[in-house]
Amino acid sequence: MTTLDPWGAVKIDNYSKLFDEFGISKFDELLAKIPNPHRYMRRHVIFGHRSYDSVLEAMLSGKPFAAMSGFMPSGKAHLGHKMVMEEIIWHQQQGGDVFLAIADMEAHAVRGKSWKECRELGINEYILSAIALGLEPGAHIYFQSKFNPVRDLSFELGIRANFSELSAIYGFSGETNVSHMVSALTQSADILHPQLKEFGGPKPVVIPVGSDQDPHIRLTRGLAYKTNMFLVEERAAGHISIRGKAAPKEALQEIAKRTGGKLYEEHVDILILNLTLSEVESIVREVELKYGGYAFMPPASTYHKFMTGLQGGKMSSSIPESYIALTDKPEDGAKKVMRAITGGRVTLEEQKKLGGEPDKCSVYELLVYHLLEDDNELLEVYKDCVGGTRVCGNCKKFTAEFMKNFLKEHQEKRELARDRLNDFGLK
Ligand code: SF4
Repeated sequence: MTTLDPWGAVKIDNYSKLFDEFGISKFDELLAKIPNPHRYMRRHVIFGHRSYDSVLEAMLSGKPFAAMSGFMPSGKAHLGHKMVMEEIIWHQQQGGDVFLAIADMEAHAVRGKSWKECRELGINEYILSAIALGLEPGAHIYFQSKFNPVRDLSFELGIRANFSELSAIYGFSGETNVSHMVSALTQSADILHPQLKEFGGPKPVVIPVGSDQDPHIRLTRGLAYKTNMFLVEERAAGHISIRGKAAPKEALQEIAKRTGGKLYEEHVDILILNLTLSEVESIVREVELKYGGYAFMPPASTYHKFMTGLQGGKMSSSIPESYIALTDKPEDGAKKVMRAITGGRVTLEEQKKLGGEPDKCSVYELLVYHLLEDDNELLEVYKDCVGGTRVCGNCKKFTAEFMKNFLKEHQEKRELARDRLNDFGLK
């Protein structure tokens, strides 16, 4: 018997390499613990994570946590960007502090955008849409080039990064301009700065990303470890080592005293009897902060699947027909849906006999990712499609109508958002 899988469009088979090779954990394992999972979580669009358990634990116990993302102001904000905006907004609704960077330094250094263009695109394309989608005041929105905490931290992180490491990740060569390299470190500083003292200190911070961004997350996690004063490692069950090569002697002494560990020249060894690993980590963070260190927690991440382009293949900013921009005219958005590639069969007869293939259908994907909030309604569409009672022409009209209404409503909200920029510290 075939199992009905209404999330078929977001199968994660192709992503299994990420679990095996790169140590990304499956998001499903956490799903049952999340009280109001976002539809991307329920529908397995978000399929993987690193350290998201730390964010979830803070969320469930009312402790501080944050979510952060950045947008490079180099073109139009589209449905792919909307996914990240929604994930950030959802975390704000769950009580998180949220941070949204406009990566103008990157757009200027890498895409040659003028500062003026960066400013205009940042506000008009990204910030207005994020507010229209539900971002509330209290969110920290900033332009990298105008934000000293991030610029200062990126300089500090640069001490721990070298050219070989960055070129392995970003493909830098001898021809790469230096500001491009600086903008890569600035992204790491974007990710870590919510943990600076002035933003409330160390806390779990999640970065929602597409899976192609994982190398950057790994680099930043590595930089967090390297920048900290101490490295806490579980050597064997019940045995923890805390190394602090450059740490003041008194700090190591205090850790030994508070954890009951044995003090050596540059490290403390602990046999855990009454403390858990996370309790030890928390003591170490407190001591590190007292002695002037950063005590960063490794940033957490969630990984979402990419939307496919409306014409099949990838969405590409150089092919307007492959994506729907949040500022596309509602009628144009609807037309793009009508021209999109479907999972329909060659003839109507075949469609009735074999049913459609929603897992290969970009129209169905729009419903899963963006347009149908009700899971039961989506399941009906799925059943009718695979059962051969749904015809692509009508299905496209149905979806195009939803798209038109979404864009119309979104754009009205964007206009209202213009008057609210002040509430976010922007003019
Ligand atoms: S009926 Fe709808 S969901 Fe099914 S293949 Fe056609 S357009 Fe896609």
